[in-house]
This record gives sequence, structure tokens and C-alpha cells, in this order.
Amino acid sequence: MALRKILVCGDPVLRMKAKRVRSIDDGLLEMLDDMVETMFDAPGIGLAAPQIGESVRVVVVADLSVDDDQERPEVHRLINPRIVEAEGQVEAAEGCLSLPTLQGVVLRPRRVVVEALDADGEPMVMEMEGWSARAISHEIDHLDGRMFIDLAEPDSLAWMVPDEEDDRGYRLNTVSKQEALEAFQRLVDRAKADG
Ligand code: ZN
Repeated sequence: MALRKILVCGDPVLRMKAKRVRSIDDGLLEMLDDMVETMFDAPGIGLAAPQIGESVRVVVVADLSVDDDQERPEVHRLINPRIVEAEGQVEAAEGCLSLPTLQGVVLRPRRVVVEALDADGEPMVMEMEGWSARAISHEIDHLDGRMFIDLAEPDSLAWMVPDEEDDRGYRLNTVSKQEALEAFQRLVDRAKADG
């Protein structure tokens, strides 16, 4: 297993429509393990393959429905996932490992039903609610080149700036979508220049 680099918004792979998985081989299973490690390391609660530069329809999401004392929650490994049913609408602030320190309010379904293949290639159906429904919708968006900044209410976008005087440990600095996109693009360009 290996930690993989997480791409930042502005990298073209994040805007591509990811390809369906045709066959599950050792390479794909290894990538799934890498994605789980990378997600926990970040730390995050979900990760889509395009975020590590692999334009295929694969996502991992932590199971947020189980609230026990385990150090690591269980992780769903979903291949070719798609939402076949969505119900209700909930507004909440979310973030993304590919848009570091940005948050914004996004309207998401309250409940979704997702069809996918599991890591053995067996068809599965999952019903998810609340934060799990939000997380899986967010990850499946990545497979179509869509990110939360595209969907967030424009006035809700803000940088989370560390601030020990604030109870949350950070304060919010409002930013426009355009400014945020430009800031991420500069990060990507600088990383490229540094090789
Ligand atoms: Zn994301």
C-alpha cells in the first residue's frame, strides 16, 4: 500500500469524465487500498479515483452510519457507482481534499440509493442517509468532473483560516468562486513548476 498524491482543483484530471471499470484486476484492487490509506491519512471521509490522478469510476467512502469506538470506520469500496434514487434536500457546509481549506454550502439529497460493484465484482445496492448520502453524492460528482465549488451557494464560499481564538479553531474568510479557483490554479501551476 502506498499513499498517493491528492490532486488540487485546477488539475485537468479532476475535470474529466472518468471511465467505467471493465475488469477488476490486481492493479485496481491495489489502487483501492491506496485510496483508503490516502483518505485516512489526509484525513478525509471519502475519496474518488480522479483525485489521485486515476480517471476511473471508483470511490471509497467511510461508513458514517456506524458510531462505535473503532479507531477507523469501515470503508465502502464502490466500483462504477451510480445514484439510482434520491430523495429530499438538505443544505450543509462541506469541503474537499482537492479544494484544501475551502468550504461552502451545498444542497444535497437527504437519502440516496446507490448501485455499484463491490471489490469482488458483485453488484450491490446501498441506501445512505444524512452525511453518508452527502459524502457519496460528492464523490460520485468527482467521477463526472464536478466539484462542490461548482454547486455551492456562491455567497457561502469561504476559506477556513486557523484561529485559536475561535471555538472551532478557525474563522471563515469569505471568497468569491472566481478568486478561489484562481488561488487553486496558482497552487497547481506552482507545483508543476517545482516539478
Ligand atoms: Zn471531493
